[in-house]
Amino acid sequence: MTVLEQEQRFNGTCLCGEIKFQFHRSKIKTIYRCYCSLCRKQSGAASNTATLISSEQFDWQQGEQFIQTYLKVTGFTSSFCRQCGSPVPNALGSNAKIMWIPLGLIQQDFKPDAELNFCMNSKTSWAGENEAHISFDELPNGIQLQHYFELNE
Ligand SMILES: [Zn+2]
Ligand SMILES: [Zn+2]
Repeated sequence: MTVLEQEQRFNGTCLCGEIKFQFHRSKIKTIYRCYCSLCRKQSGAASNTATLISSEQFDWQQGEQFIQTYLKVTGFTSSFCRQCGSPVPNALGSNAKIMWIPLGLIQQDFKPDAELNFCMNSKTSWAGENEAHISFDELPNGIQLQHYFELNE
């Protein structure tokens, strides 16, 4: 007999509260921290902390008109609230079926099963140590991302 895992709703808002979104998942199983120089600037911190979900699970609830997107010539994309500056989710430039979710916006607390570290070659000396299940020297490729974040289901 198959027991379906109960879906849980996750809500997120930006700092000013104009932008609101939600998604449904049984769990946020995997998160990552990226220590590259771009994510440092985009987050203002030693790394960003985020997860990836299927775009089909994601809905904007309010405030899409407040989203501004900066696209670097390299393709690095940063979407943010133009009223308060919070980073907000965006579809990956390399695959629009995958949504990037900055975890600091999520209202519910949760405990992931797996934490990954990306771009460890770029990590600054002042970044704290974070225990990770797997650490990548650079960015994992698309196939690895789909595997670790279970995006094929
Ligand atoms: Zn805002
Ligand atoms: Zn990065």
